[in-house]
Amino acid sequence: MSSKEIPTYEAIFEACEEGIIVVNRKGIMVLANQAASVLFGYDIDEIKGQTIDILLPKSIRQKHVSLRDSYNEDPRPRKMGAGRDLMALRKNGEEFPVEISLNQANLNNETHTVAFIIDITERKKFELALRKSEEQLIIYAAELENRVSKRTQELDATIVQLEEQILERKKAEEETQKALEKEKYLNELKSRFVSMASHEFRTPLSTMLSSASLISKYKDEETEDKRERHVQKIKNSINNLNNILNDFLSLAKLEEGKEDINFENIEIESLLTDVIEELNDIKKEGQTVNLISGNTHTLLTDPKILKNLATNLLSNAIKYSKENKEVIIEVHENEEHIRLSFKDQGIGIPLSEQQHLFERFFRAQNAINIQGTGLGLNIVKKYIEMLNGSITFESKENYGSTFIVTLPK
Ligand code: ADP
Repeated sequence: MSSKEIPTYEAIFEACEEGIIVVNRKGIMVLANQAASVLFGYDIDEIKGQTIDILLPKSIRQKHVSLRDSYNEDPRPRKMGAGRDLMALRKNGEEFPVEISLNQANLNNETHTVAFIIDITERKKFELALRKSEEQLIIYAAELENRVSKRTQELDATIVQLEEQILERKKAEEETQKALEKEKYLNELKSRFVSMASHEFRTPLSTMLSSASLISKYKDEETEDKRERHVQKIKNSINNLNNILNDFLSLAKLEEGKEDINFENIEIESLLTDVIEELNDIKKEGQTVNLISGNTHTLLTDPKILKNLATNLLSNAIKYSKENKEVIIEVHENEEHIRLSFKDQGIGIPLSEQQHLFERFFRAQNAINIQGTGLGLNIVKKYIEMLNGSITFESKENYGSTFIVTLPK
């Protein structure tokens, strides 16, 4: 390239895409390039000689004077308007955003400021659009987050509801199942009872029938004895029937949970004496019942339940013993308990069957020919449990049995 072709400063000045305006210390524009003229809408000649203020929006002209002065005091190259938007004014009154950098130049021995000006309208628009879409994005994200958390909450609530429903249904199913099983069990119990009762009722009823018809035949005084015997038979049969019905009533009450407990302070010996007396009628020829007790014992317990279980145990002792045998009831007391034992010299319980003794409807092989339901001991055990007590027994076939009831004081 020859020296002739080297572009002059003016050509560079004009070719520059940035608007360039040179201003003297008084703020008078002394030079401007083509780009500056296009930018501000003035002819270059219109600019020259004018104060820079005509290119500033009116609102900032005042401030610009002091800014210019402070710049002139420390004239270093710098970017104008750091941290704030700079606005410029076109000839047609339109304001537009600009970026300006300032430099110093020495022209004709006078310090001048050279301002490089770029129209940043497009950039600003772009920035604005970007900011808007950013803001929009933030709003969308927040909305999304909101919706997600709402949905999550709704889902959580639905899950909790579902879990509760499942639990409730499970509970209801369990309860129905339980009710069904209980119903089944009670039905089975009823049918077993009906078959047992119809069997057990037959003997006493036919005894009563035949005794009654015989009594009507024995009209003379000589037959007084026979009449009395048959009256006794009828009484025994009625007792048997009564026992069966009592057992069943107790069982039904226990099963339905209707048996409630009422504690009272009672005297054990007097309660047992009543029981012995009430069972006098079922004793066989020569049988005796003896109550052995050091002194009188009192206990806070349910008298009805205690009487019921004592009646059951004593009637078994009498029922499963032969004539002339003795039954002994003993009362013992220690610090914590009262112990009642019912000892007989009866048929005893075969060892191999003893494990089933408290099961419902259990009847030992050696008791088949003696009237009974197999319910009494099962009821007794439940009653004793209601009183927080316990029952044990010892028995030897053909020698006798002892049942021991321990009740807390
Ligand atoms: P039940 O006497 O009506 O049959 P229990 O439940 O009172 O019903 O007794 C169950 C079974 O236990 C009786 O059938 C009998 O085999 C046996 N048992 C109960 N008590 C005695 C006893 N004192 N002596 C001999 N066997 C007894």
